[in-house]
Amino acid sequence: MALLLDIRDPNWMREEELRDLLAPRLPGVPIYCDLTEAELEKVLVLAVVRLRPDVAVRLPALKLVQKLGAGVESIVQAPDLPPHIRVARLKPQQAGREIAEYCLAYVLRDQRYMLDHATDAKKGRWSPMAPRQSHKTSVGVLGLGHIGGQVAKSFAALCFRVLGWSRSPKSIEGATCVSGRDALPAMLAECDYVVSVLPSTPETRDLFDSRLFDEMKAGARLINVGRGDLIVEEDLLAALDGGPLAGAVLDVFRQEPLPADHPFWQHDKITVTPHVSGWHLDNGLPDVAENYRRLVAGEPLLHEVSRQAGY
Ligand code: NDP
Repeated sequence: MALLLDIRDPNWMREEELRDLLAPRLPGVPIYCDLTEAELEKVLVLAVVRLRPDVAVRLPALKLVQKLGAGVESIVQAPDLPPHIRVARLKPQQAGREIAEYCLAYVLRDQRYMLDHATDAKKGRWSPMAPRQSHKTSVGVLGLGHIGGQVAKSFAALCFRVLGWSRSPKSIEGATCVSGRDALPAMLAECDYVVSVLPSTPETRDLFDSRLFDEMKAGARLINVGRGDLIVEEDLLAALDGGPLAGAVLDVFRQEPLPADHPFWQHDKITVTPHVSGWHLDNGLPDVAENYRRLVAGEPLLHEVSRQAGY
């Protein structure tokens, strides 16, 4: 039996690099870096960044698709992935920390008027502005899982008032947590910043529509590091152009790379970043080998996702 790596993203990592990292942990297990070199009938585990169409159907012994990352929406919904095939993801600490840093950075940019000061400085203008105070600022974190939990704790550590939202009830020190769609309007009405760290699932897709934006506090700012399809793009633009929203920081998009003519690029109130908020998976990668071992041994997998729930 064998492991097949299908990354196809040399900017991030080459298959051979991952093979060299995993091979000492899986002695005797063939690790293929290319479909053309693989003995396809032996492949038990397929590790991917993106599941390409028609790959899984060529692997008759496939039991597990191991996502090299967190978002599994395109895998769990893949029409040609038979229902018996399990799906697991990674939960590296670094990526969670990096996303928390990203969210903090953009909130602090606004709290401290950094863009205004930079503009003033270029013009030689001395214009003091009182910073907004964290203990008087409410940050709502939507999604309180592996990453959202770290985001919520990071804001709480800087004395922000943190509100959190998830599907099932949660308890996070320093945060007031609620769950379920019915709890959302009252929470959103209080938030100066809304940070979305939600997965893309049938329940969350298009969640950020005009109804939700109308529930947000006037002057609120949105940060989306979850997935692009959580947001109805026209409704976001309307909420920024005369609606309640004062700004949006977007790291993820329905179409990536964001098309050159997309209105988000030029919009005064939108900051676009190219899906970089969470990057490093290093300390999660050994779990690929561990999941191969567990699968063969019949032990519970690390970070298996529910294909039904979609995350
Ligand atoms: P987790 O699965 O650990 O957490 C997901 C959270 O979302 C959980 O708290 C879950 O609730 C909540 N949730 C799911 N569905 C709903 C719903 N219908 N209503 C309310 N809450 C819901 O995922 P992670 O925290 O690890 O990652 C979240 C997402 O971040 C990923 O799926 C991915 O899309 C994105 N991501 C983005 C990156 C980037 O670079 N921009 C990098 C990595 C991830 P509950 O706790 O009740 O289950």
